[in-house]
Amino acid sequence: NKQVIFKNYVNGYPKASDMEVTSDATIRLELPKDGSLILSKNLYLSCDPFLRGRMSKATEASYIESFTPGSPLSGFGVARVLESIHPDFKKGDLFWGIINWEEYSLITDTQTLVKIQHTDVPLSYYTGILGMAGLTAYAGFHEICKPKKGDTVFVSAASGAVGQLVGQYAKLYGCYVVGSAGSKEKVDLLKNKFGFDDAFNYKEEEDLNAALKRCFPDGIDIYFENVGGKMLDAVLSNMKVHGRIGVCGMISQYNRDIPEPSYALGLIILKRIRMEGFLVFEHNHLYPKLLETVLPLIQQGKINYVEDTVEGIENAPDALVGLFTGKNIGKQVVVIAHE
Ligand code: NDP
Repeated sequence: NKQVIFKNYVNGYPKASDMEVTSDATIRLELPKDGSLILSKNLYLSCDPFLRGRMSKATEASYIESFTPGSPLSGFGVARVLESIHPDFKKGDLFWGIINWEEYSLITDTQTLVKIQHTDVPLSYYTGILGMAGLTAYAGFHEICKPKKGDTVFVSAASGAVGQLVGQYAKLYGCYVVGSAGSKEKVDLLKNKFGFDDAFNYKEEEDLNAALKRCFPDGIDIYFENVGGKMLDAVLSNMKVHGRIGVCGMISQYNRDIPEPSYALGLIILKRIRMEGFLVFEHNHLYPKLLETVLPLIQQGKINYVEDTVEGIENAPDALVGLFTGKNIGKQVVVIAHE
């Protein structure tokens, strides 16, 4: 049973060498009588920026536990039930939820597991568009940003797991949508695959403020915030009066000991901006609605989802750290096994 072991707490940018892929030969493919409810075969792992927080020592501000040095990482994934004594899961069922980064798992805590009922879409989608990232985009855009038809919407990290969906939901809603991303290839995707009205490569813009003015001469109604830092300051200068900012994440700050100061926060008062942070875990009740809405959109080809897939659990550490340099193009998925 290959596992990805967390070595020790991380400062600054995480490295693949902060993790180690080992083989724990002790697992037997049967359910022991030790309180385990499910034996799973793990198929897909989801690489998510929040895992960086779990690599640091927890502080009072942490909303989730740190990883334990010497133990496997855990995160969202898709798995198949090999054995089960849990009444809701039977042999052969597929589910998504929190699993250890390993080939096979003995599961005692089933709280986060969601049984997969629709298998006529790629199973890996349950790490993204139909999983945690998908719910983040769906709930964050509709519930927190409260869009109106015709709103001007800006999305940062727009080609990623969450951003590509926010942009497409905003287009379906009848908004004018612009995204930023960190390479030409990503900007092309935004315009040509996801239907953004405009997009720019923030790494090539000398002046973010000017780039936003160019794209939004009349200002921004909604900002879906994924990155923080200098981009947030530039956006604040370009928001309309009574604009809304849904704060999903601030990935540019995750590897810093001390967050960058903001020089533009005072504009929230001047422009009466409503800025609201959210955590996807408080929006789980929307998941049935997401399935009802998004499955037909996928089936009718009205929404696209781009994944960046690496094969083999050995490559999981590299895939995870790649999120923080923008190596991933689309949702970063690790395939452990195809079925
Ligand atoms: P992505 O798939 O977008 O991957 C991360 C991307 O962030 C990279 O590809 C890179 O794209 C960009 N990035 C990395 N470092 C920086 C930087 N220093 N400055 C600007 N951009 C950077 O990740 P997700 O879609 O999974 O997550 C997007 C955001 O949503 C994150 O902030 C995450 O923490 C947050 N999130 C929040 C949740 C919540 O409940 N609030 C739940 C899930 C996600 P590029 O090449 O464009 O720079």
